[in-house]
Amino acid sequence: MTTDTERAGEATDLLQHLIRNACVNDGTPASGQEHRSADLLKGYLEGSGVDMETYEPAPGRTSLVAKIAGSDPSAPSLTLLGHTDVVPANPDDWTHDPFGGELIDGMVWGRGAIDMLNLTTTMATGMRHLALSGFRPKGDLNYIAVADEEALSTFGAKWLCANAADDIRTDYVITESGGFPMDGMDGLPRLPVIVGEKGVYWCVLTVKGTPGHASQPLRTDNALVKAAEVVRRIDEYRPAAELHEAWTRFIDGLGFPPELSEPFLDPDRIDAFCDELPMLGLARQAHACTHTTMAPTVMRAGTKTNVIPDRVELEVDIRTLPGWDTGDVRVMLLEVLGDLADDVEIAFQSEEPASTSPIDTPLWDALHRVSQVFYPGALTVPFLTVGATDARYTRTLGSVSYGFGLHSTAIGFEQYGAMFHGIDERVDVESLRLSTEMWMGLARDFLV
Ligand SMILES: [Zn+2]
Repeated sequence: MTTDTERAGEATDLLQHLIRNACVNDGTPASGQEHRSADLLKGYLEGSGVDMETYEPAPGRTSLVAKIAGSDPSAPSLTLLGHTDVVPANPDDWTHDPFGGELIDGMVWGRGAIDMLNLTTTMATGMRHLALSGFRPKGDLNYIAVADEEALSTFGAKWLCANAADDIRTDYVITESGGFPMDGMDGLPRLPVIVGEKGVYWCVLTVKGTPGHASQPLRTDNALVKAAEVVRRIDEYRPAAELHEAWTRFIDGLGFPPELSEPFLDPDRIDAFCDELPMLGLARQAHACTHTTMAPTVMRAGTKTNVIPDRVELEVDIRTLPGWDTGDVRVMLLEVLGDLADDVEIAFQSEEPASTSPIDTPLWDALHRVSQVFYPGALTVPFLTVGATDARYTRTLGSVSYGFGLHSTAIGFEQYGAMFHGIDERVDVESLRLSTEMWMGLARDFLV
């Protein structure tokens, strides 16, 4: 038998090695090369008694599926889903080598320490020690380490769900992120469980004009001037607030005083409240959780200083709330464009609607129960993330999919949020211990 401290030591070492593998995904098919981390994890789990299978839809883009088979096919089954790829990091901006995996004062430093090699690691450590202990669940327990989450999951979860659904489908899935303790007003910690994510509609607006000589600009049809007006209209547009169940239960669950919670729960007051709120981070988060948002981000225009441009491409990042589809987004864009709509072509680069899972499920209850061991009195609160995770693919298989983990309070909330794709990403060993023990406790609670 190992102790929790020994298991945390093992997770720490494994995480350091995963960071050093530097499976950097820059969006190109040849990047990532996650086979190195899939091999590492396979070697780590070998001999523990789990069944393993690897999938390699493109050279080097390997995902690992490990299983402890359940004894009762009708019992609920669970997958712990982590990704092994990370986004690029520029060493010049970091205090320590982003791919050094150094352990300094109880913190493991490096790209992926928070997003999400910490969870990918602790899920593997939990799985290994469950298997070694002779754990025999009723329902299947899967551990999946996927490639390519940081691009579009083309060679990872999306591929597995489309091509190996029968090998990986379980009733429940847990992936990133969540489980970061927030202080409630009553002194009891709140642990967010990610129950859904916003939709992603990236689009290119092509604004058309008429070419001409720039020495005589009067009454010309300049596409760039028109595009500037389009940008202004996008920025000015205020879509109505929509309060999803995940939002109202999140705010209710935090136990804020009425002067904070009431405006957050009132669709007629929330916009003005967010405009004035001194806590900018909270204001942005609250706004994003309750609105479909649009941000103009890239513009390509013009060919030569003396030519009136006849064509501008403007990229807009649109994030939708649950319930919106492409048609709704198009209607919103036409309203924004108004009288300029005839001069603008709309083309979508991605059309991924928001996805959510129900909140009140047996897994929800189990997460609450298991958390009590580590944070007595803690309340789980649902949260809608503005980021995208592989849960949007596993939900297509009918799996209730949440984001969870367990963190210590060593890293503050603002710092934690800034580390996703940011600089000086790091995680403390205590958080690795908490997550490892939580996965093991959860499996023993939920699957037997
Ligand atoms: Zn991630």
